[in-house]
Amino acid sequence: MISLYIWLIILNHYLMEKKNILICGGAGFIGSHLCEVLLKRGCSIICLDDFYTGKIENISHLLSDSNFRVVRHDIIEPISFKGIDEIYNLACPASPVHYQYDPIRTTKISVLGTLNLLELAKDNHCRFLQASTSEVYGDPEIHPQSETYWGHVNPNGVRSCYDEGKRCAESLCMDFYRRYSLPIKIVRIFNTYGPRMACDDGRVVSNFIVQALLGQDITIYGDGTQTRSFQYIDDLICGMVRMMNSEETFVGPVNLGNPEEYSIRDLATLIVQLVGSSSKMIYQDLPLDDPKKRKPCISLAQKALDWNPKICMKDGIIQTIYYFKHVLSHTCLNKMEGGV
Ligand code: UDP
Repeated sequence: MISLYIWLIILNHYLMEKKNILICGGAGFIGSHLCEVLLKRGCSIICLDDFYTGKIENISHLLSDSNFRVVRHDIIEPISFKGIDEIYNLACPASPVHYQYDPIRTTKISVLGTLNLLELAKDNHCRFLQASTSEVYGDPEIHPQSETYWGHVNPNGVRSCYDEGKRCAESLCMDFYRRYSLPIKIVRIFNTYGPRMACDDGRVVSNFIVQALLGQDITIYGDGTQTRSFQYIDDLICGMVRMMNSEETFVGPVNLGNPEEYSIRDLATLIVQLVGSSSKMIYQDLPLDDPKKRKPCISLAQKALDWNPKICMKDGIIQTIYYFKHVLSHTCLNKMEGGV
């Protein structure tokens, strides 16, 4: 009798965890880590990606898992699935270099893409987590940034395709929540780094590590006094999963970031030191509308999700250096020889 009871608990646990989860942008830096963690939890994953910035190498180690399926699709086009329990929307180029490459497409992905996925969530009446961004705060006049701050965004600058696209996506999510009572979850993701960042995506952590490893000049834009607060990928994934599983009525938006704030110059010094590199720092023009400072207030995430980032900058950067050392010689060397 007791053993039957135990079996029922195990079966119940298995059925509870066996969710069908759609991860849009699942072959990207963040998406691939999310696929991995949710697969380990026993979920069935559909990884949707158009492979515009996502890479098959990010998910190749998952392909043999029978609970993992890859679908190539551009979310600008509508799509239909049945039996989905949760949708994570991470599909959008996220580094300034990538999202500014084809800005009209970036806006379409955030606006039309999110709209298509919200319709899909409505059809399945399932939970929907929107990956929003600290970029909704623009070049903030309030420091640190809490979720109640409405932001300071240039509506027609070179970053607007991303900033305003993501702001519009938040607005769509809230309207689906208000109009259709759809269980929506919005997270605002602050600068995130870690293994599987693309070495050529132009972001500061990947640029500096790759430059330091190759002995190239470290390219500081502006005078390097601008700040960012960097979180390690594992902390972000933990926060996103907690958000998805939070109380149904908790919509957010909620900041997910590590409040450890660095100037870009100090970040360069740290990376050069940890790599043990002889690279020197050079100063180049600051990109247009580059925010001067950024740091999340995370009291809402702490309270509502019992979440705190656990990995300090030094440990996270060491892990990331280790990753880039490993892949650089195989995948990036030729590209990087001409500069990052
Ligand atoms: N940055 C830099 N050198 C680089 C790449 C970026 O100094 O090689 C600066 C960039 O101007 C910005 C900060 O680092 O002030 C963070 O840039 P990133 O593109 O990583 O993220 P975001 O601007 O979206 O926060």
